[in-house]
Order: sequence, then C-alpha cells, then structure tokens
Amino acid sequence: MALMGDHSKRKICYYYDGDIGNYYYGQGHPMKPQRIRMCHNLLLNYGLYRKMEIYRPHKASQDEMTRFHSDDYIKFLKSIRPDNMSDFNKQMQRFNVGEDCPVFDGLYEFCQLSTGGSIAGAVKLNKQATDIAINWSGGLHHAKKSEASGFCYVNDIVLAILELLKYHQRVLYIDIDIHHGDGVEEAFYTTDRVMTMSFHKYGEYFPGTGDLRDIGAGKGKYYAVNFPLRDGINDESYEQVFQPVMSKVMEMFQPSAVVLQCGADSLSGDRLGCFNLSLKGHGKCVEFVRRFNLPTLMVGGGGYTIRNVARCWTYETSIALQTEIANELPYNDYFEYYGPDFKLHINPSNMTNQNTTEYLDKIKSRLFENLRMLPHAPGVQMADIVDDALKEESDDEDKQNPDERISIRASDKRIACDDEFSDSEDEGGRTTTADGQKKNKESNRTKRMKLDDEKNSASTSTTTSVTTTVTTTASAATVVGGAGDGTGVAVDAKDVKVDLPKDTINQISSTSSSSTSTANTPQQSATTTVATSSLTTTAPSTSNSTIDPIKAPTAVVDSSSNSQITMVTANSKSDAPLVAKQDKAPSTSTPPPSLTTNSNATSLTNTTITCTTSSVSSVVESSEHTAQ
Ligand SMILES: [Zn+2]
Repeated sequence: MALMGDHSKRKICYYYDGDIGNYYYGQGHPMKPQRIRMCHNLLLNYGLYRKMEIYRPHKASQDEMTRFHSDDYIKFLKSIRPDNMSDFNKQMQRFNVGEDCPVFDGLYEFCQLSTGGSIAGAVKLNKQATDIAINWSGGLHHAKKSEASGFCYVNDIVLAILELLKYHQRVLYIDIDIHHGDGVEEAFYTTDRVMTMSFHKYGEYFPGTGDLRDIGAGKGKYYAVNFPLRDGINDESYEQVFQPVMSKVMEMFQPSAVVLQCGADSLSGDRLGCFNLSLKGHGKCVEFVRRFNLPTLMVGGGGYTIRNVARCWTYETSIALQTEIANELPYNDYFEYYGPDFKLHINPSNMTNQNTTEYLDKIKSRLFENLRMLPHAPGVQMADIVDDALKEESDDEDKQNPDERISIRASDKRIACDDEFSDSEDEGGRTTTADGQKKNKESNRTKRMKLDDEKNSASTSTTTSVTTTVTTTASAATVVGGAGDGTGVAVDAKDVKVDLPKDTINQISSTSSSSTSTANTPQQSATTTVATSSLTTTAPSTSNSTIDPIKAPTAVVDSSSNSQITMVTANSKSDAPLVAKQDKAPSTSTPPPSLTTNSNATSLTNTTITCTTSSVSSVVESSEHTAQ
C-alpha cells in the first residue's frame, strides 16, 4: 500500500467529556484520569480546538458494552460502589476488581464515557464523516470479556473495532503502549478480519503475554503480530522497527480502517514504564500511520507521568491536525506541572538501550516470515486460503507450536523511588489536585506484582472466551435487528451541532461534576499489586464451534444475553468480501448499504462543539435515547 503524500489536511473529530478528569482511582493509584483533562486544557490553549470538531461522547449503554463483555460482568460494574463492596466479595474476585482495578465512585460512568467516545468515533468513521477520530479517554486495552485487568474495566477498543467491522472488511489495530495489548489480541485471536499489532516490553513485565510466537489461531493464525522489546528503547531503534514492520503489515493485510492505541507509558521517564522514547519518537508512529490515509481512530491508553501524557497526546493531536505547535508551552490551567522548563518536548534519559540492532533485526525478520504467510495475491485468496488456515490447526509446519501462549509467571517490578511515585511529583508539586482532592505524599511504596498461579483457570476459560468473542464479532458485523425489546445492538449516531455561547477557553475544561466524590477507595493501599493475567492457553479449539464473522448463520442465539439476534452474512449479496479479502487493490470503504439498516438501533445523539477562533463553549449536554 503506497504511502500518501503528507500534505493533505484531514478532518478530525475529537471526543472529550469535561467530567472525565474528576474520576479518581484512589490514593496512590498510578492511573489518573486527570491527565485527560490536563491534555484537553493544553491543546485548547494551543488553539488546536479551532481545527477540529469537538464532541462530548454519549455514555455507552449496557447493550453496547455487552457486544463484547459478558452480561454478568457489566451488570456487576454497574452495581458495585465503594459503599456496597462488602456485598460483592466473591464477584470482585471473579472479575478481578479490587486491587489494580479498584472500585471507585463513578466507576461505571467512567467506563461509559471512555467507551462512548471510542464507539462514537468508530461510528463517525463508518459514516465517512471524519478522517480521524480521537478519544484520549479510551485505549483501555487490557480489559477482558469478563475481567478487569491492568487498570482497565471495559475494552473500548474491542467495542470500537466491532463497530468498524460493520463497514470494514479488515481492521488493523496498532498498539504502542509499553504493555502488550492483550485484551484486544485475545478478543480477535481467531479472526482474520482484525490484525492486532503490538509493540511492547516483554519479559518479566505485565501482563506477561505478547510473545513473538503468539501469532493467532485458527482463521486468525498470522493475524496477531507481537514485537517484544527490551528496556530502554530509544527513538531511533523504535523507528527502525516500527516503520518497516508497519509497512509490511499494511502491504500484506490491506486494512480499510485503523485503530491506533497511543499509550504514553512508552515515553521516557514514565512512572511505570522503562522505555526511553521522546515525544518526537512516539509521535513519529502516529505520523507514519497517518500517512497511509486510512480512516483512523486514535485512542489513549497507559501513561503514568501525567504531565508527559498531556504533552504527548497534545502533540499527537497536533500531528493528526498537521499543525505545528511551539515548544514553548502556552499558559494553561496546569502550567506549574510542566516546570521547570515549561516546554512541550521532553529529553530522553541516558539509560542503556538493551535492544541491540541485531536483536531488533532478528525479531523483525521473524515477523516478516510470519507476515509472508498471509494470503497475498488475489489469485491465492480465491483458492480458499481461509479454509486451509482452519485445517492448519493440527499442521506440523510450525514445529514450535506457535499457538501455545507462553505464560510468564514473573513479576513486573514496578519499583521506583519515592520521588518518582509521589502524586505530588506527578502533579507539579501540588498536594491538592485541581478539583480539590486531597493527596497525601506517599512514602515507602514498593510496587510489586502478584504471582498468578491461583489465577490459572488457564486454557479452558480462555478458549471459551475466544470462541464466544467470535460469536460477538459475528453479531456485531451482521446486525439487522436487535432483541425485540428495542434494545438494538446497532449504533447510529446523530450529531447535533450546537451554537456556542461566548465563553473563555478555560470554561470548557473546568466543567466539573460536583457529584464526584473525593473519597479514596479503602482497599487501595499504598502498595499496589499488579496481577499477571496468565494466558497459558493452547490453541483455542474454535474450528468446530466458531461462527465465522463473515459467513454468519442466518439466525443465532446469543447465549450471553439470551436474546435472539437475526443475522445475515456480512454481505448478504455474496461472499464477495471474503473472497476479495486480500485483494491488492486498497479497498477504501464504501459502506455496504445492506449493513446500514438497523431499525431497532440505539440512536446516540452527540453534541458538537464548533469552535470559532474567538470563543469556545462550555461542553454541552449530550443525550442518549432509544429510537423507534
Ligand atoms: Zn500500558
């Protein structure tokens, strides 16, 4: 796929809710939603709002979330509160909620907003109403079907990809967070319609998955790509692998839409990370992906030195907009956080780069070998390569049993000195956050990671999970009607533009909810434990039970919701998309009309904030209702 010229302006839609910064994981917890507000405030003060449409996302509904997640898990997230936790002990264990993923005030709403932005962005892309959609509140890539993990509860990325699959035959997921994008990989492990590409630190590090040899299974074999990295990777090394690998992936997979997870914990100086990227190195990935000129959803993810997260995502918003912004930071609500230099860009440290050129080249060529296994020429594709791939499960061509996931039962050290961990450091020396939450300096916080032996429900549960996920994919890709009660599965967003009252820039970011509590979650102690989710699964045995997301049956009972969903094949006219899957011609998507009907669709009303050069409105309300 040829790179497009990098000069054409694209339309950008940006999703942000002024409440997001008020959610609080608890004292000492490294995940701070406040970073999203800091980023928003910074990019407003750079004037970037003038060049994009800003939307307040709808709150994703339970129905939207259960297109991937299990009903009982979402019901649990909806019910649990800090004041009723004791009634949910068993479920908290089962759903891995409590330590890394604490119960906090407004937890479910937080998930709704984060997810709402990503789904709305996907809908916008599907409607070809934007070229790039941005949701920095999303990117929560560790969440599983029925389990919270790594500070993530609801996997907005999986849900957004499911939305994109309604219109796009092939969706590429790219993950540059320092952690493996395990939740997304797992969800699409057995399908060839989504390729997951993750660059991450591997070896003694959370979540423990993402081995080079994890390549997908069944039909999805070779559609999961993992680039394991070592500590200290710098801009040059990252570029040396990212660009050629992504070029090859684009050439071989030819996606018609891209989701880019821009986790900022891969930056130098991250509180939990151990890479050594500058904003420029991180941003180069965004720039590179952007040049392919495909409909792209950009989401956030990790990032725990929050001033750098705000810097990074502001800078990457400017890259999406193709607008240069000054290194001198504009005055903003959080100005003191950026001292002592008050510059946009950060300097990498002098840490050792443990990724030698030889190591990187070796991994790169191994990945290229796998990518070459993908069906490529149209003629080959016509010869039922997909069916062959299914049979390959027992093939001996790969003597190393690449479908076997390697579980690392080792711990993520997450040890840092007090300075690096103190909230006050992250927050510019303050002991009180902008919204008045009192923070105490923490001391002696050794982070450790729990060994996960007891969590090894292992292969069977993962297998089930993967299988059911494919069912979900099928339903999402082929929705015609919802369950008869009007709770449709399809989403159709209506955007309502609203005139802006004259307001100051600051007001847009100071939208705050007084209902957000400042209470700390009791169980969030000074010691944060990270659990490795062990995925010691063998190849999921999906060949018999899997519902092909493309050739879905005409009627399927969705076991998770007990509601019957009528389905048609992705393209009811023929299997053409399947056959054309690897067609050399880039398939710029024209949405198949047969997929756009959703009479029972949940209609989401977004509100646009149109910004003029002189005024920015406060964020106005959004509404969500069930249509028809
Ligand atoms: Zn991360």
